[in-house]
Amino acid sequence: MYDVIIIGGGPAGMSAGIYTSRARLKTLLIDNYSIDAQIVMANKIENFPGFHDGISGVELLEKLTSQAKNFGIEIVSGEVTDITKVGVEFDIKMEANSYKTLALIIATGGKPRMLGVPGENELKGSGVSYCAICDGVFFRDKKVIVVGGGNTAVGDAIFLTRFCTKVWVVHRRNELRASKILQERALSTDKIEFLMNSKILEIGGNQKVENVLIENVITKEKSIIDCDGVFVFIGHLPNTGFLKDILAEDEIGYIITDDEMKTSKEGIFACGDCRKKLLRQAITASSDGAIAAYSAEKYIEDIKNIGG
Ligand code: NAP
Repeated sequence: MYDVIIIGGGPAGMSAGIYTSRARLKTLLIDNYSIDAQIVMANKIENFPGFHDGISGVELLEKLTSQAKNFGIEIVSGEVTDITKVGVEFDIKMEANSYKTLALIIATGGKPRMLGVPGENELKGSGVSYCAICDGVFFRDKKVIVVGGGNTAVGDAIFLTRFCTKVWVVHRRNELRASKILQERALSTDKIEFLMNSKILEIGGNQKVENVLIENVITKEKSIIDCDGVFVFIGHLPNTGFLKDILAEDEIGYIITDDEMKTSKEGIFACGDCRKKLLRQAITASSDGAIAAYSAEKYIEDIKNIGG
């Protein structure tokens, strides 16, 4: 029997775990160690306060995990398959085990959004990638396409110039969403060429990516670019499917919470990128985690007081 179970071990879940363990609540964190985890894909985080020269996502996660372990958190790996509640106790089922807890914190983050064009699924892992830090090195001296106009697309396009001879950034609008500092860096990088107002219609190739069919959305002009890889960075979707609609979510599937990270179900809290919020960053995920832990602590105190 745990006081708190946290599902998800990114910055939100680990920060929640640091707070609950430090509050001497018996805490279990369940993580599926997905290769899609956003924090693992972050090659350099420059805006997490306290890290003057930036820090990789993996390194930040290692530090958070070690800090949580210092306070006594238990961590298991696996997928949660079902959540039920009897009285004040939640039963958290995994494939092989099940655990009981008084409070539950959901911190499952998001997964990369797919383009949904022909060739994408077929060539996934054979030139189509969603992670520059994982796969960039395989494209040494190659030419690649990056899709998207946000911080990930522009930041990772810069990262990819370490390996690639040419990086085209294909963005559907004429304006980038990425921060000005990243835009400035990308624009001053010779190897990067921006193809604005453009979208990919198809990814072509036998066995591996060989080219993409691109359309200018204004002129409707189509062109083929020969390339070796396509990196898709067009945002994320929440990892909330396993909840099977037990919580109120928005139309995309982000969990709706209040300012205290309380969800629509008493005793369940949500934090980080899986919840509906304005800004999804490592720092806001950590902040959410701290609030969720504090709210869970108050909730547990209340039910323990009522119970006896
Ligand atoms: P994002 O900010 O949501 O940007 C997604 C980009 O993909 C947008 O430019 C969007 O176009 C485009 N897009 C969405 N759907 C598309 C589709 N179907 N086809 C073509 N293009 C599509 O996602 P992100 O860049 O992954 O960033 C996620 C969060 O992490 C953000 O809050 C971001 O600030 C943060 N982040 C921060 C840093 C940093 O601070 N260094 C680094 C990485 C990520 P539109 O612009 O037209 O909507």
